[in-house]
Amino acid sequence: MKHDQKLDATALPVIGLDAGEAVSPGYYGRRAAMLARLQALGLPVPDGFALSFETVNNLAQGGPLPPLPELRSGKPVIVRNSPGQRSWGGSPGGKFLGVNPFEPDALIELMGEVPAFEVCLRLVSGYSKEVFGFDPVSPEAGADPVSLRDDVAAALAEFETSIGQSFPPDLHSQIAGLARAKATMWYSVSTRVLREAKGAPADAGLGLIVQEMPLGQGETVTGEVQFVDSGDGRPGVFGVARPLMDRKAGREPDRSGNDLKDVSAEALERLRHAADMIGRDTGDAMRVSFVLNGDDVSIVDAVPVRRNARADVRISVDLAKAGRISREHAILRIDPVSLGEHLHQQIAPDFQRDLFGTGFAASPGAATGRIVFRAEDAQSAAARDEATILVRSETGPEDIRGMHSAQGVLTIHGGNSSHAAVIARGIGLPCVVGASGLRISFEDRTLTAPGGRVLREGDWITIDGTSGEVLVGSANMIPPEIGGPLHDLLNWADEVRALEVRANADTPADARTAREFRADGIGLCRTEHMFFEDDRIGVMRRMILAEDDNRRQDLLDRLLPMQREDFVQMLEIMRGLPVTIRLLDPPLHEFMPTGPDDVAEFAAAVNMPVERLKARLRELSEVNPMLGMRGVRLGVVMPSIYEMQARAIFEALIEVNRTPGKRAVPEIMLPLVTANREAELIRARIDAVAQAVQRESGMSFEYGVGIMVETPRAALRAGDLAETSTFLSFGTNDLTQMTYGLSRDDAGRFMREYVSLGVFREDPFRTLDIEGVGELLLTAARRGRERNPAIVLGLCGEHGGDPSSIRFCQVAGFDYVSCSPYRVPVARLAAAQAELLSRDAGRSHESPDA
Ligand code: PEP
Ligand code: MG
Repeated sequence: MKHDQKLDATALPVIGLDAGEAVSPGYYGRRAAMLARLQALGLPVPDGFALSFETVNNLAQGGPLPPLPELRSGKPVIVRNSPGQRSWGGSPGGKFLGVNPFEPDALIELMGEVPAFEVCLRLVSGYSKEVFGFDPVSPEAGADPVSLRDDVAAALAEFETSIGQSFPPDLHSQIAGLARAKATMWYSVSTRVLREAKGAPADAGLGLIVQEMPLGQGETVTGEVQFVDSGDGRPGVFGVARPLMDRKAGREPDRSGNDLKDVSAEALERLRHAADMIGRDTGDAMRVSFVLNGDDVSIVDAVPVRRNARADVRISVDLAKAGRISREHAILRIDPVSLGEHLHQQIAPDFQRDLFGTGFAASPGAATGRIVFRAEDAQSAAARDEATILVRSETGPEDIRGMHSAQGVLTIHGGNSSHAAVIARGIGLPCVVGASGLRISFEDRTLTAPGGRVLREGDWITIDGTSGEVLVGSANMIPPEIGGPLHDLLNWADEVRALEVRANADTPADARTAREFRADGIGLCRTEHMFFEDDRIGVMRRMILAEDDNRRQDLLDRLLPMQREDFVQMLEIMRGLPVTIRLLDPPLHEFMPTGPDDVAEFAAAVNMPVERLKARLRELSEVNPMLGMRGVRLGVVMPSIYEMQARAIFEALIEVNRTPGKRAVPEIMLPLVTANREAELIRARIDAVAQAVQRESGMSFEYGVGIMVETPRAALRAGDLAETSTFLSFGTNDLTQMTYGLSRDDAGRFMREYVSLGVFREDPFRTLDIEGVGELLLTAARRGRERNPAIVLGLCGEHGGDPSSIRFCQVAGFDYVSCSPYRVPVARLAAAQAELLSRDAGRSHESPDA
């Protein structure tokens, strides 16, 4: 192209694609900028120019088309949109221009008769449709030169009759008409609304590209090709190509969606070379759009290869290993949440999704099974090797064994930190909660969707805990994939990150998972979950109901070895790493039977009249159970339970440390503290138990005692609490609940509306509320550190696995986050990203295109 303008991007209404970096995406759009980049690489990019956003805007206002540069060959051109982001601009296809359909001789000489007339027909049809909204070309256009010539003449006559003027014969007037039509459409209200829905700003501009089509004698083929698989990121050749003049535009590609048979081996090799060059330049795997004329290759576009989460990791890791991008860049490019797709099974893409309902995506991965409404039924089905989805209004501790037996859990109530969500995430079970449009009838054993559609117990359903969908029928699954490139990526993340990532692990199985996922320790072991095993729950209930201290102590003595065995296993698995064990937290009524049958059965087992048992249960139950006699209050009022737990921990510690290997490191954590005196009272008892165990065993040991900061008062008094604590761990589930005065189990009822109305920017139980809860955390951290500079600060609520909350923890200078084992890889990557971003390394890692 001849262009002699100065390369001042702000000043040029039209710029040549050979102007290199001056073709900035901010003035001419992404596609134009990419073409200029490809041309600068020396690739065979057809000659062309771009109209700036401002030029197109002026055209929309009725302004004139500025003078256009002359193109080298005089071949037909194609006009394409070039918006600021590709996704804002509708279809990437273009329109032919630059042919005089009244005088096609030059074109016939260039291409031969039939293709030349085909081009004319396309020009007249495409132009008329876009500029005037009608098509003068007969759908039965002929296939031989004579009838094609007649078809062109007929179309031009039809145009003139309908529009009242003759078809514009030259490039300038065609571009003027088409560009004005495109500009008017771009700034119309409906198009603007559509693109704003995709995230475009209100003033997003449109650039246009005018580029020669490399047409010539022989068949012209257009297509796209990429050299990695979008499904798994492995190398290969994938793409489609077809003759430009192929009338059978709907020709079926082969079953894989690929069809490159119109591309010769030689052309393919050149395309591979081009894709490789573009990949090196952009630091990404690219899908290349091309035009072939014989073996002559022209490159007309390149975009990053579309990819799913698994392919994304492999592509980034392979690029880093090949030295195309840095490891830091690879770390920053992956969305940590997308790792869920590696860690859990997913619904196979060919499954026809028949949507029954939706809820909150509470625990990622998909599961399929028959509907059961009771935890016991999930357990008995598991004994028969049958897959189930446990459907409940909400779950409680008594459902945990059923949850372990089911493939997935669906609840009608609840939100992101309700019982079902927390437990399911902990054990890696797919879970959808708060599907409030669905109704359960326990009597009829049915589940009804909003439109009245009914599923019965035993029917197959599939839940997708990544999207929150509930689907009818049984789906095939793609298994998880944890090793390979993901392993490499996470190792690189570990080399970078400063924040420790611990796991919330309640059982030896959880601890093993945490270790496999390379957690830096256990940040929260909720000991209450250890009491629901068949051989324990009865003893636990008897202990709670004991009417005198001796009887209670006898029963605690029976629980002691069971707890000790749990702790031995946990400490053994996590040798050398900190294990934070939280003493009993929930109100005692949560351990008691609830259904009438269970109450009667338990009354018979303990030899108690049913009525008396019911009276005791009434005494234990609280109107607002999450704010009553729970947490450290239990320990203060009924100290023997905590003493038993402390003894179990210390005896386990001695047992583990007796055998060779790294030393076990327990930290005892006190839940729901609000006043320093609570901690003092409990700490004195724990220390006394420690001394007793050391005396009895003749062995000394070290342990830490810390406080869970999960009430606003504890956050405000963190200075006092820190003075005698080894650590403070922020329990942001309860802290969020109490800061908002919003029950975590009931929040699901209106959370969706609140988020969609913008009352809350995000669900604060999922992503930390930085403005409110965050201020409490910062205040607590500052006050804690002032009084005890050595204090270790951690966060163990559900936010510990949420990437943006992890960034907050990094900025706040916390030492660790703790999250469910299956989110440990997510948190490891997010912590590395937080570290890189805080080093300000992120800015130079923008994606090459979008
Ligand atoms: C919390 O409140 O943040 C917490 C981790 O404890 P739990 O979820 O067991 O109440
Ligand atoms: Mg809590």
